[in-house]
Amino acid sequence: MIRPREDLALMEGYHSPQIDVSVRLNTNESPEAPPVQWTDAIADALAEVEWNRYPDRSATELRTAIGRLHGVGPEQIFVANGSNEVLQTVMLTFGGPGRTAAVWEPTYALHSHIARLTGTAVAEGERAEDFSTDLSEVERVITAAQPAVSFLCSPNNPTGVVDDEATVRAVLDMVVGVDGLLVVDEAYGQFAPWSTVGLIADDVPLVVARTFSKTWSMAAVRLGYLVGPAWFVAALDKVVLPYHLDSFKQLAGTLALRHVDEMDARVKRLVAERTRLARRLEQLDVEVWPSGANFVLFRPRNLDGDAVWQSLVDCSVLVRNCSSWPRLNGCLRVTIGTPAEDDSFLAALEEALS
Ligand code: PMP
Repeated sequence: MIRPREDLALMEGYHSPQIDVSVRLNTNESPEAPPVQWTDAIADALAEVEWNRYPDRSATELRTAIGRLHGVGPEQIFVANGSNEVLQTVMLTFGGPGRTAAVWEPTYALHSHIARLTGTAVAEGERAEDFSTDLSEVERVITAAQPAVSFLCSPNNPTGVVDDEATVRAVLDMVVGVDGLLVVDEAYGQFAPWSTVGLIADDVPLVVARTFSKTWSMAAVRLGYLVGPAWFVAALDKVVLPYHLDSFKQLAGTLALRHVDEMDARVKRLVAERTRLARRLEQLDVEVWPSGANFVLFRPRNLDGDAVWQSLVDCSVLVRNCSSWPRLNGCLRVTIGTPAEDDSFLAALEEALS
């Protein structure tokens, strides 16, 4: 009988349990819905769609609107079904057999997973003790593996660490030295104090991936994008399937971009709530890492992570269980929710720890 590709046989796939609970703080979604003006506008616009026709293959209106947000033209924007598909298209185009991708763990698991799916070898380095990017370790991996693609994630999932500009520039210099590409995953970029997008230039092998799933409150839409040099976007356009982005998504994204102020206000509220939640966590018997994203990583000091995770589920609160992930022994990651959701989480955690 036919079997999956040999190199896929040992892969476990990506698992994030979707358990039915009252407080869902496990996948870094926004706790708030998008503005009602957006929902109404979508409903009106859908009535006008010619459903018997293929969508605009080049998604020009959406790419123009996203480009305007970043001060670049549509030729510098690639759009896809979530930033995961953006990353997959990057790896299909610039990875593949005979090429290597470099990651520094712990980081977003899909970087290495997608690399492997596309037949790309993976070189794994380590982050520093405090989970910041360790430039000597980056140099070691890049020199040894000569990766075609190097990934940074800033703010990093699941640790929340933000790379500063000097760090990204230093990694970029090393990447240039091996004729590679630097992909900066900014899925949580709006929560951070600065963005790598400003470093993008035609002669620089740097691209930045972003998503509508978090700050835009649109995880259900599955829409993500990349900002990069025009030549890079043109290469991706040759690889991605024709008409991959449906008419609904193109409208959803274009209309969302009329509500940038609301998005900024949501980000401000979440950042304030993150500060409140982190302070409360610091008063409990857990280790807490500083976060520049919409989640906080913590580790119960005296109890097993799995046991605390289960106690939270028993109180109908779901967080991400990272306790079995490399270097994250015993760690849990909680997404910032509404103040009421976060209070339920804190109450359940206090009970679990007592
Ligand atoms: N990058 C990072 C760092 C993420 O945390 C996520 C979602 N968990 C993604 C990319 C993928 O987001 P999406 O496919 O929903 O755009």
